Amino acid sequence: MNVSVGLTERQSAVEVDLTGTFTDASGKPYTSGRYRFTSEVTLTPSDLASCAFALDEVAIGIGFHWERKERQVFRGALRLVKREAGLTVINDVSLEEYVTSVISSEMSASCPLELLKAHAVISRSWLWFPKANPAPFKRGQRLNSHEILRWYGREAHPDFDVCADDHCQRYQGITKLFSPGAAEAVRATAGEFLRYHGAICDARFSKCCGGMTERYATAWEDQDIPYLRSVYDGPAQSRAYSPETWIRSNPPAYCNTDDSELLSRVLPGFDQETRDFFRWKVAYTPEELADLIRSRLAVDLGPIREVQPLARGPSGRIYRLKITGERDHVTVGKELEIRRALSRTHLYSSAFVVDKESGRFVLRGAGWGHGVGLCQIGAAVMANEGKTYTDILQHYYRGTAVSV
Ligand SMILES: [Zn+2]
Ligand SMILES: [Zn+2]
Repeated sequence: MNVSVGLTERQSAVEVDLTGTFTDASGKPYTSGRYRFTSEVTLTPSDLASCAFALDEVAIGIGFHWERKERQVFRGALRLVKREAGLTVINDVSLEEYVTSVISSEMSASCPLELLKAHAVISRSWLWFPKANPAPFKRGQRLNSHEILRWYGREAHPDFDVCADDHCQRYQGITKLFSPGAAEAVRATAGEFLRYHGAICDARFSKCCGGMTERYATAWEDQDIPYLRSVYDGPAQSRAYSPETWIRSNPPAYCNTDDSELLSRVLPGFDQETRDFFRWKVAYTPEELADLIRSRLAVDLGPIREVQPLARGPSGRIYRLKITGERDHVTVGKELEIRRALSRTHLYSSAFVVDKESGRFVLRGAGWGHGVGLCQIGAAVMANEGKTYTDILQHYYRGTAVSV
């Protein structure tokens, strides 16, 4: 089982450092050293374990507030594909090695083992689901002069299975040493998938649900997936909330943790810059908001007068938001488009309430990411409390089972 991972695109030339000997399609050897390519090539390692290639300046976190460039090292084959915009750089790697790398990249080496095991199962399932269900993902777009309704499917990558960035799953090859924990988690769950009535699940996950997970249709097409419904992210929910009071409250959910020792064990170093993910706040003047809307959505509403949630999912995430300015109005959805519209990078989530204070719009929000499926922070807390990986998976994905 091999996975093709898109590392970068639109390159006029690609410089690569090889360790060990690779061969191209014609059998020509490339020994250790630095090479520069401006056309298509496939380099296959002579030995899977000892050969590696390194690329400088791989962008990670593209468009997010943690965007940066890093030198990264990969095992497996290197494939350059020529497209109109330039060269696409692809890494062909085995599924189990891909999963080990993703877990090493997404989660810190000292994570609780049961969390790493849960993550191994969902990474494998999430990756394999589209291969088992060809073309179930439709990008959606409904546009008229006063409404923008968009969501993004996984058909975004015609030339490879997954990109290496947070859009799919963060993959950094062997840049970081595989942690013993990640390797053990992959071995202990070898070949295991999350299944619903036997079929491999579309195992969505996000950083922090905010106390309540979200249903699939708030982020993607209007469809209910039985194992991706909203669940309270705690042992038992004591009272019912309206979305507004929910977001303003501080419920005792699994992911409502200030255990900084656990968080630093779970989140890779750069994510620790973000600590206010359970409940957060941002503020804009009407002019700042108008500038954002103009640059992000290419519509000129004039200074903003009103920001009005029209529809919310069960976690409080807004999927239709009406923004009214002095000149015009627009309605935006779904959750990712709202997060893109209201921030220079990405708003943490679309679960927010809007208050007007001293002439400014104050957005008070909950959670980080789309909130559908497993909540990574909540799952970490569950694992730390001694829950097993199957307990964790069955909490977030109701009615599922884990099997090979
Ligand atoms: Zn992607
Ligand atoms: Zn949560």
